[in-house]
Amino acid sequence: MVEYTIHGLHEKLVNKDISSVELTKKIIAHRNLVEGEIHAFLSMSDETALERAAEVDKKIASGERISELAGIPGAIKDNMCIKGQPCTAASKMLENFIAPYNATVIEKLESCDYISLGKLNMDEFAMGSSTECSYFGPTHNPWNLESVPGGSSGGSAAAVAANEAIWTLGSDTGGSIRQPASFTGIVGLKPTYGLVSRYGLLAFASSLDQIGPLTKDVTDAAIVLNAIAGYDHRDSTSIRMEKKDYKKALIKDVKGFRIGVPREFFGEGIGEETKEAIKSALAYYEKEGAEIVDVSIPHITSGVDVYYIIAPAEASSNLARYDGVGFGYRASGKDIVDMYIKSRSTGFGEEVKRRIMIGNYVLSAGYYDAYYLTALKVRTLLKREFEKAFERCDILAAPSASGTAFKFDAFSDPLALYMEDICTVPVNLIGAPSISIPVGFKDGMPLGMQLIGPTLGEEKILQAAYTFEQDHPEFTKTAPKGEFE
Ligand code: GLN
Repeated sequence: MVEYTIHGLHEKLVNKDISSVELTKKIIAHRNLVEGEIHAFLSMSDETALERAAEVDKKIASGERISELAGIPGAIKDNMCIKGQPCTAASKMLENFIAPYNATVIEKLESCDYISLGKLNMDEFAMGSSTECSYFGPTHNPWNLESVPGGSSGGSAAAVAANEAIWTLGSDTGGSIRQPASFTGIVGLKPTYGLVSRYGLLAFASSLDQIGPLTKDVTDAAIVLNAIAGYDHRDSTSIRMEKKDYKKALIKDVKGFRIGVPREFFGEGIGEETKEAIKSALAYYEKEGAEIVDVSIPHITSGVDVYYIIAPAEASSNLARYDGVGFGYRASGKDIVDMYIKSRSTGFGEEVKRRIMIGNYVLSAGYYDAYYLTALKVRTLLKREFEKAFERCDILAAPSASGTAFKFDAFSDPLALYMEDICTVPVNLIGAPSISIPVGFKDGMPLGMQLIGPTLGEEKILQAAYTFEQDHPEFTKTAPKGEFE
C-alpha cells in the first residue's frame, strides 16, 4: 500500500484529495478493526489527534504551507514523554504515570504539526527482542499473528505494518528499531548516537539509547529524521552541528560506492535464506556500479558479551530512581526499606530484574575490573576496528536479524535470546547509524538487511537504501493485517 506513505499522503493533503480529518478517521477506523488482534497500542489519543487534524485542515484551507509530516497520523513508543499522556515503558512500575513534560522529539514534532494516535507497546523498559516482556501483554506480528513483531519497539513496528499508523518513533539501544522493522517488513532507522535528543526518553542504557523512525519506505524515514534530528542543550551528549536535509540524500545511484561485508556478520547462527537475500542485494549493488569489499571486524563476535555487560550496568543505575517514592508504583511495607524492596520486587518484571541484578554484579567492587572495565576496553577495540573498515568502505552491509520473526515462547532461555542480538548490538556500541530495509521473504515472512554508515553517515546509508528500494518494489508489500478498503 505504497500510497499510504507520508510523502504520498502529503501530496493528497495539499492537493485537497483528502483532508487530514478524513485521513485520521480512516486510520482510526482501520485500527479499531485490527487492534484487537495486533495489540500495538497501550493508550490512544484519538481526540487530540482529530483536533490537530482539524487545525492542519484549516492551515491548508487558508493556503498556508504545511510541513511534510503535518496532519499525517503517527504514533510514539511508550517510553517517550508526551505532556499529559501516560508513559508506562510497558511496566507495572509506571502504569499510572502521566508525563509532566514533552520529550524534545515531541516538541520538534509539534512544530511540524504532527499527529499522534497514541503510545505504543514495547518490552518493559525496552529490554527484550520480542515485545513478550510487556507488562500489558505482547504485540502480534501483522504478517502472522502467531509470530512476534520483534522488540523492543514491537508496537511501533506492528502499528506501521498493520497501517494503524503511517509512521512511528521507536528507540534502539541494541537493535530495537532495526530488528522489529526487519520482522515486519518495514524500514527502521537508528541514527548516529547524539543526532537525536534523548531528553524525555525514559533511559535504559544512556550510552547506547537512540530514538529513530519506523516507516513504510526510505523517503519517509528521511522525512521523520528531518523532523526529529538536531542539537538540544538539554541532552549533554547531543551533537552540535548544522541541520541537514536528509531528503537530499534520496538519489538513485550507488556508482563508486564501496560496500563492505564484514565476514563476522555471516557466521554460524545466521539463516541461509538471510544470507541468500543479502547476497542478491549485494549482487544488485555491484551491477549498479558499487564495489563489494570483503572486510573483517573480529570483535563483532564479542558484541553480545560486551553489550550484555554495559547495557545492564547502565540500566541498573538508571532504574535506581524507581523506588516507590518520587513517582511510579508503591507497594506498602512495614518500614521504608521493606517498602523499597516490595515496590521494586513487584513493580518490575522478570527481565528487568535480571538486568538490574547483572548490572549491579558487574559494577560491584571486585568484579568491576573483570567485567565492566574489560567490556569498555573491548568496546574501544570494536570502535577502532569499525573505523579501520570505514577507511576502505563507505558503508557496511549486514543482516538485521538471523532470520524471520520467531514464534511466541520460542526462547525459554534468556541467553539464547540475547545471542539473537548479534547483528545489531555492535552498531550501538560504536554509536554508528544503521538502517534496516526489507530485502526478501521466507515462507511469507519478511527478511531485512542493515546498511551501516560511519558516524554521521546517515546520507550514505539513506542513498544506498533508497537506490535498492526503487528497484525492488516487491519487498515493500503490505502485511495482510495492513490491507484496508
Ligand atoms: N534486544 C536488546 C535488549 O534486550 C535490545 C533492546 C533495545 O534496543 N532497546 O537489550
